[in-house]
Amino acid sequence: MTVPTSAAAGLDATAIRADFPVLAERVHERPLVYLDNAATSQKPRAVIDALQTYYETYNANIHRGLHALSERATAEYEDARSRVARFINAAHSHEVIFTRGTTEAINLVARGWGDESVGEGDEILLTEMEHHSNLVPWQMLAKRRGASLRYIPMDIEGRIDLEAYARMFGPRTRLVAVTHMSNVLGTITPAAELIQIAHQHDVPVLLDAAQSIPHLPVDVQALDADFVAFSGHKMLGPTGIGVLYGREALLDAMEPLFGGGSMIRVVELHQSTWTVLPYKLEGGTPNIAGAIGLGAAVDYLQTVGMPAVTSHEHELTEYALSLLSDLDGVRLFGPRDATDRGGVISFYVGDVHPHDVGTLLDADGIAVRAGHHCAQPLMRKLGVAATARASLYLYNTAAEVDCLADGIARAKAFFE
Ligand code: PMP
Repeated sequence: MTVPTSAAAGLDATAIRADFPVLAERVHERPLVYLDNAATSQKPRAVIDALQTYYETYNANIHRGLHALSERATAEYEDARSRVARFINAAHSHEVIFTRGTTEAINLVARGWGDESVGEGDEILLTEMEHHSNLVPWQMLAKRRGASLRYIPMDIEGRIDLEAYARMFGPRTRLVAVTHMSNVLGTITPAAELIQIAHQHDVPVLLDAAQSIPHLPVDVQALDADFVAFSGHKMLGPTGIGVLYGREALLDAMEPLFGGGSMIRVVELHQSTWTVLPYKLEGGTPNIAGAIGLGAAVDYLQTVGMPAVTSHEHELTEYALSLLSDLDGVRLFGPRDATDRGGVISFYVGDVHPHDVGTLLDADGIAVRAGHHCAQPLMRKLGVAATARASLYLYNTAAEVDCLADGIARAKAFFE
């Protein structure tokens, strides 16, 4: 296996690293090796500066003020919405609803769309590899409405059986809610095919794109997607901001989740009417700074270029899979072939508890995650209570993957 150089992917990882202040930190007197990107990503200076500039020079509430600061804040907030819309190629910027993150976006659909459209005896199709965020809201909806959840057959590496999936549709199928990339296995699901099959039955699809949009070019129109949920903090943006993309007609038909300021047209003592998209679904003062920060994050990713981000991570994933599979007693989860997977690598080291592996790696300055990764049903399917997980992003390097492999080998030796 040749050691990948980011240059081949058209991406200068050294220059990129210089844009991320935290990457210069030392942890336990070692250089930080940050491999917990599936949990949250680091932030480039451009994003930190955008937040600071907002707070230092034009902090104001939006949409309501007639003064200069409010007008500027409103313009920047709406500009961020347009940038996000362009980033995912939405047909209209009002199809981008700002939320707190993926979790809120999915709950918004489960309440605002689900309560209207799902009834007694109806079915929602999911997979067993969903993050709890794309599982629990549907369980709650099913309980409220007397509906049921059905699971699309998939193998142990998260590959969906498309023929079995196509056979699951019936008159009671109301929605497919599926991850675009597993946060445990790294598997990329065939979103276009899943959507196409669902549309043959007039069933909408919600894509949990929390792990895909930060790492892959995603075009919601090319996918013919209905709902797409993602989080700013996993794509170089701040925490507390995320997106629900929805097809205009679907969002229009949705009931708001939050009643309050900004989302109304007329309020009377006993009833109210709602304003237009996107405001109808953004009741209350939104995370103005967060949206502006997300706009800056999207700019940063677009300047680097999403195809370059994807191919850089692809090279590193291939390299990591080859190094880790050469290590004795290390069990890897997810597809071995890097073609249909992203840079999320779950592993188990001998009989060592993943938390102990995580603690030993931390002592070497290497940040990974250990646990059930909010995917308990998948853990049960894999036959483990937890895994350790390393996850890559555009600023990671082959040298850091070497550190990970060395760290795992040391952890294993320590417990032998
Ligand atoms: N879905 C997936 C696949 C995720 O990886 C995550 C975050 N770990 C979420 C949903 C939830 O995202 P958030 O906590 O930002 O709402």
